[in-house]
Amino acid sequence: MNCQFYQFRWWPRTPKLQTIWLNRSVQREGHNCENNLKPKRDASDELTSLSLCVELRICEDRMFDLIYRFDPTNTESQRTPQSWKEACDLLVRGNRDFAEMTDGRKKEREMRVIPFDPRALGWGSDTHGAPAQVPFAAVLGCADARVPTEMIFAKGCNELFVVRVAGNVLGRECLGSLRYAVGHFPKTLKLVVVLAHARCGAVTEAVEVYLQPGRYLEIATDHSIRSIADQILVAVRAAAIAIELLHGHEALSQPNSQAALLEAAVVLNAAWTAYCLRKEFHEGFPELGVVYGAYDLVTRRVRLPLSPATEVTEEEKGLFEPPDDVEGFQQLALRICNGKLVKSLLGVSQ
Ligand SMILES: [Zn+2]
Repeated sequence: MNCQFYQFRWWPRTPKLQTIWLNRSVQREGHNCENNLKPKRDASDELTSLSLCVELRICEDRMFDLIYRFDPTNTESQRTPQSWKEACDLLVRGNRDFAEMTDGRKKEREMRVIPFDPRALGWGSDTHGAPAQVPFAAVLGCADARVPTEMIFAKGCNELFVVRVAGNVLGRECLGSLRYAVGHFPKTLKLVVVLAHARCGAVTEAVEVYLQPGRYLEIATDHSIRSIADQILVAVRAAAIAIELLHGHEALSQPNSQAALLEAAVVLNAAWTAYCLRKEFHEGFPELGVVYGAYDLVTRRVRLPLSPATEVTEEEKGLFEPPDDVEGFQQLALRICNGKLVKSLLGVSQ
């Protein structure tokens, strides 16, 4: 990746998508998008459509457009899923579109249009009313800056209720936020998602503490950091047990064992959190779905980390229901740790 820029533009009465490419000399000098953010309109120009355009230039020859577009004739942006499975499918399809659009192996320019209803931002309403909040899914995700929740699911505003915290751990405030969403939007909210991601800094911290217990002394008095790491250590331990069971006690002494342990712990931590949330909400909201997944920073797929980035299979893509019991967690841990990805990181023959 040798250059990258973003543009956010807002055009009243846009007959069609407009894009402006910056030449390379401008990019090299550093482009200031400030002027582009000013909407252009004249006295007679009524606001009839709104486009928010994000342009990413990721290499000399490869471009793609991710476009948020309001089309009053397109009712898709107002459609609410009727079940948690339908909501889950919407997110999985959105992530598939995002991953395919940003696939660096493709030569042609890619474009994705995300239906976007600016009325969710108050556009078009009078001064008396704010738009109703109508998310169809709540997402508990990591605060990592590389994982923009709405973007990776190709969703617009007022579709997702997003709670982000390092390590996507379930502290009281996060649980309270999700309780608020589930309790206040029962007509529209069908699904709760726990979204982990590869190479998570918070999980890395927990893995390092697990492998080198002496490091725990460094955070002994840092209760805020400890409150995150402590919640992840159970998943790290479960992953370590599975690795040792499958590949021997020496496996965690290998040079890349930390990376392997991290991959497994990330997804087990998400599955564990999803399990807790399902327990939390099942009695009061039996129709609510709870799923988990891990966002891969390389393929930009939400998936289980079973295979290396170049060999991702269909079965590992998507969002998944958490296990029901201890045996289910053991099977999941063994499946992840017996996958090609973890084995390749451990240097174990396939
Ligand atoms: Zn993270």
